[in-house]
Amino acid sequence: MTGFLHRPPYGQPVSLADYPAGFDGGINEKEAVAKTQALQQRLIARQDMLYAQGKHALLIVLQAMDGGGKDSTIKAIFQGVNPQGVRVTSFKVPTAEELSHDFLWRVHRQTPPKGMIGIFNRSHYEDVLVVRVNELVPEPVWRARYDHINAFEALLAAANTTILKFYLNISKDEQKKRFEERLAKPEKHWKFSKGDLGVRARWEDYMRAYEDVFTYCHTPHAPWHIIPSNKKWYRNYAIMQTIVETLETMPLAYPAPEEGLEDIVID
Ligand code: AMP
Ligand code: MG
Repeated sequence: MTGFLHRPPYGQPVSLADYPAGFDGGINEKEAVAKTQALQQRLIARQDMLYAQGKHALLIVLQAMDGGGKDSTIKAIFQGVNPQGVRVTSFKVPTAEELSHDFLWRVHRQTPPKGMIGIFNRSHYEDVLVVRVNELVPEPVWRARYDHINAFEALLAAANTTILKFYLNISKDEQKKRFEERLAKPEKHWKFSKGDLGVRARWEDYMRAYEDVFTYCHTPHAPWHIIPSNKKWYRNYAIMQTIVETLETMPLAYPAPEEGLEDIVID
């Protein structure tokens, strides 16, 4: 299997009905975990080179419904990676200051500099998802954002930032299970907010909004991957594979050493 299996074709409307959340590629958990671990060694090696070279950046965008597994994906994929080379940004409800600027202002300043991997836990896509569903701005305003987002991502790509966007696709039934688990475990209560139920009640509206995102903002320089995520081990495997294959096609190399290192004797 290639890591790009879950990338929709370009230039066609996307229907989530074509992307089963429970898909597991015909492998079992044990195999997937072993493969993910092997891939992680390759991730660590490439990240070391990305950081040392300091010429390219990788931006990873994670979007999902509540309970989709954004936080645990970040933990699973990036454990063992040099923390100096990775920065995670979690986008929350915008502050008054953020709202006084254009919607990309707070996002642009968090994009990874060269040498770094930037991880967005939620992103500028909230501005065409929650904002659209809750009618926080008029329709012409959010509709114009698809073009703004495409132009923004093209700008980043032109500045040596490789962009990978992942939608962690869980079913509504799976979300119910995960919410129940959060409610059953005291150490998970902090993850649950009563407002999540209001979002769940608008599930179909969110799915339509996501389909439009995948239809309008899916480009070769900033592709979406719709990752089957009911099974966490499959989700981790598919995402790890996509990231590793991408890093391995980037023109990374260690910088040339200073001349004459071979003659040095340390006394
Ligand atoms: P969490 O990821 O669970 O910490 O929740 C963050 C909350 O912030 C979610 O309910 C998001 O929908 C919300 N949020 C993030 N970005 C925006 C935005 N641009 N406008 C409105 N709400 C947002
Ligand atoms: Mg939450």
